[in-house]
Amino acid sequence: MSHILTVNAGSSSLKYALYRAKAEPVVLAQGKVGRIGGAAQLTPAGGPARDLPPGTDHAGALAAVLAELSESHPDAQVTVVGHRVVHGGPDYAAPVELTPKVIAQLEGFAPYAPLHQPHNLAGVRAAMAAFPQARQIACFDTAFHRGHPFVNDTFALPRRFYDKGVRRYGFHGLSYDYIAGEVARRAPALSRVVVAHLGNGASMCALRDGRSVASTMGFSALDGLPMGTRCGQLDPGVVLYLMQQEGMDADQISDLLYTESGLKGMSGLSNDMRELQASDDPRAVEALDYFVFRIRRELGAMAAVLGGIDGLVFCGGIGENSAPVRARVCAGMDWLGIAVSDTANDANAPVISTGPVQVMVIPTNEEIVIARAAVALADA
Ligand code: ADP
Repeated sequence: MSHILTVNAGSSSLKYALYRAKAEPVVLAQGKVGRIGGAAQLTPAGGPARDLPPGTDHAGALAAVLAELSESHPDAQVTVVGHRVVHGGPDYAAPVELTPKVIAQLEGFAPYAPLHQPHNLAGVRAAMAAFPQARQIACFDTAFHRGHPFVNDTFALPRRFYDKGVRRYGFHGLSYDYIAGEVARRAPALSRVVVAHLGNGASMCALRDGRSVASTMGFSALDGLPMGTRCGQLDPGVVLYLMQQEGMDADQISDLLYTESGLKGMSGLSNDMRELQASDDPRAVEALDYFVFRIRRELGAMAAVLGGIDGLVFCGGIGENSAPVRARVCAGMDWLGIAVSDTANDANAPVISTGPVQVMVIPTNEEIVIARAAVALADA
């Protein structure tokens, strides 16, 4: 019996899942190591958190995961390790088997995603050392969006920058891939669908017949909607101002835009939606107002790209759980055919609409997309 391990290594976390390899993989265990590099903790789903040695790195985190899995599933034979890798560059539109040549190529994309790609590849190296016999595969957050039309793929810069790879890539592709599959299964008649993936990272995607035609995220995971700590869409003139008038260097600006902005920066309180919803601090109220305003604005833009919409899907920690955010996004959108039932919305029901646009709440599952790709690779 062979098994698949999925690894989703971020800057300070490593999410994992163990699957039995079947046509539709069956999840056996999953969990997360948090605060890698600091007070690291391993938390298996449903189990208590366990402290790891302080300063545990990605290799140490994976070793702790393997120790945990060898206790809970001593018979597991991992034959494929599937990795979430944020950036697949301009060409990868599908998962790829990781060879030394491919890894070197992916390292070359690190400047496109400096805060994510090196950590993803640290996870790859740790898994290769731990499972020298297993096949390793990369599934990219950018891949799902690679079929975008040119006008949605480019910036209005001199052409040489596009040729070098300065493009609108789009991210959260594993989540959108999963949601596109669920929409096809649950509501196959829907053709023009907007998906709002609202988590700590947040973006939206326009799907036509299950394929991405537009995304709010661009060259980096900073663009589009405001997020927990990321700014979202920003006039590039602001970056020039920060450099020229505030004397900030690239590292300081990067830190500001990735970790000090968004809901956290606006509210001065927290990046956590639950805390903001519970607060009556005017800055928290403004941060929420801005979050909702930008989602509504992008919803209109995506409806224009699609020529109208048939479906709207909410997913991600906020999209799946925050009835107030969904209600505010949908309020007054009857001109677009969107209307929701308060009762269904408050219950996080799978379908919450009362109007012609089918509004759905679908828990996303990025790990299963990786596991399915691993099965497909093993079968190929
Ligand atoms: P990540 O992008 O890190 O995977 P998640 O998808 O887990 O993040 O989303 C985290 C966000 O979801 C946080 O802002 C959290 O406050 C929010 N969230 C989780 N549960 C709820 C809830 N019941 N109501 C409102 N927001 C929630």
